[in-house]
Amino acid sequence: MLWTYIREIFSGAWSLIAGLGVTIRYMFHRPVTVQYPRQALELPAAYRGHIELKRSEQTGQPLCVACGECARTCPSAVIKVRGVKDQAADRTRLRFFYIDYSRCSFCGLCVQYCPEGALAFSFEYEQAFTSRYQTVVDLVARLERSPG
Ligand code: SF4
Ligand code: SF4
Repeated sequence: MLWTYIREIFSGAWSLIAGLGVTIRYMFHRPVTVQYPRQALELPAAYRGHIELKRSEQTGQPLCVACGECARTCPSAVIKVRGVKDQAADRTRLRFFYIDYSRCSFCGLCVQYCPEGALAFSFEYEQAFTSRYQTVVDLVARLERSPG
């Protein structure tokens, strides 16, 4: 009985010392955490934020020509895209591009198969919604709001 008691004291003391050893060792390592939100995360190039439209560097207009390939390719059927024919410019202009972020699986097929290279994964990680309806986003309107 006494022997068991003494053994438990030593075992408890040893686990305390081992735990403190880990703490002391990591006190002198470079921290892997950041002081969010005061500090921003450094994201890897392969980071997959939500899908967004890309603009032409020359014209500033969306690269998308509303061909609908991404909508047909999307396995989750979360894209709705329409364009209008611009007779004067002899091209189709994007009217709307809706995507439901709540059902997008970030598979990347739309990005991969867009013939114009008009879609990309964003680097945003702070997007929050308070209702399911807000997760359906018009990427054209979003692009217009974003700084060029
Ligand atoms: S994003 Fe690409 S694939 Fe989708 S409609 Fe526009 S041009 Fe076509
Ligand atoms: S990433 Fe995948 S699921 Fe999301 S919109 Fe593109 S094709 Fe659809």
